[in-house]
Amino acid sequence: MTSVLDRLAAFPRIKLAHLPTPLERLDRLSAHIAAAGGPVIWVKRDDCTGLGLGGNKVRKLEYLMADALAEGADAVVTGGVVQSNHVRQTAAAAAKLGLACHLAIMTGRVPRTDPDYDDTGNIFLDRLFGAHCTLVDWRADRNAVIARLLDALRRDGKKPYFIPYGGSSAVGALGFVRCVVEMLDQANAVGMRIGHVVLASGSAGTQAGLVVGLAALAPEVRVIGIDIDAEPERVRADVGRVALETARRLAFSPALLDNIVPAIEVVGGHAGPGYGLVNKETVEAIRLAAELEGLLFDPVYSGKGLAGCIELVRSGRFAPRENVLFVHSGGIPALFAYRSAFAAGA
Ligand SMILES: *Cc1c(COP(=O)(O)O)cnc(C)c1O
Repeated sequence: MTSVLDRLAAFPRIKLAHLPTPLERLDRLSAHIAAAGGPVIWVKRDDCTGLGLGGNKVRKLEYLMADALAEGADAVVTGGVVQSNHVRQTAAAAAKLGLACHLAIMTGRVPRTDPDYDDTGNIFLDRLFGAHCTLVDWRADRNAVIARLLDALRRDGKKPYFIPYGGSSAVGALGFVRCVVEMLDQANAVGMRIGHVVLASGSAGTQAGLVVGLAALAPEVRVIGIDIDAEPERVRADVGRVALETARRLAFSPALLDNIVPAIEVVGGHAGPGYGLVNKETVEAIRLAAELEGLLFDPVYSGKGLAGCIELVRSGRFAPRENVLFVHSGGIPALFAYRSAFAAGA
């Protein structure tokens, strides 16, 4: 463990998250979805990272924001959809650090199904954190809009720092390499051996960091990403690219690098019709966790991931009594923007 922490120590990091996040066993949900003696589901509560209502992006932002400050930035620019959790957590981190925050908010990516989508949940919080929101049609050239935001800030004499979509770069992924040290410590402390790690995977940085950290520290633990975009091939390719860049950045050995690509697994078939569109299995998974555990998941990411995890349990993917660790990546503010998906009879 020390060698991974030593390697991580070479990169600037600012504390933004409430760490360690809890590791919890879901006894009632496990008993409900598998017979006695079946796998046991645990959650790593990264919905509880604290800042700005928390979520998985805060761990990435600990490294991304430190990198921005090291470069002398006084503003950050990023982009995402109206209900982006990444954008919300970035806006909160910028507010805390006194950096201006300029956001390209993409409309029209998700066909509007709920009257609350455009005003509540994450977008409401972005504005509350004082971020400057520029609305961009998803079908327009959104990268050009971001380039224009960066240019305009530079012309004003600012030093903007660009944060990629989802904070998914080799810098951001360092946060989840570090998370592996944390989760292995916690599992050891309670005498729990992790069988598989399961998570919702989108822009790929979270899975990339977990794969790299586990390749170094516990290569017997397999990570399963649940594709929430209905683009499993794209997600798999992105996890591979970001994971290799991250491992190289940490100066891991060629032998370790060789183990990275074979360790990448992204499972499709749980995203429903597409990104941000809610399917029946996801609503059911969210209801189950709420009613059996008092635990909330969101319809775009973590709830789809949980639905995928439940389906893997039911289809016999895991061994009897195996410990399956689901990384709860947050996203709960979006629940309110999707409440019509939970209407009676929906
Ligand atoms: C961004 C996000 C994810 C996916 O993480 P990536 O690193 O983009 O793959 C999962 N769950 C929630 C709630 C998110 O906001």
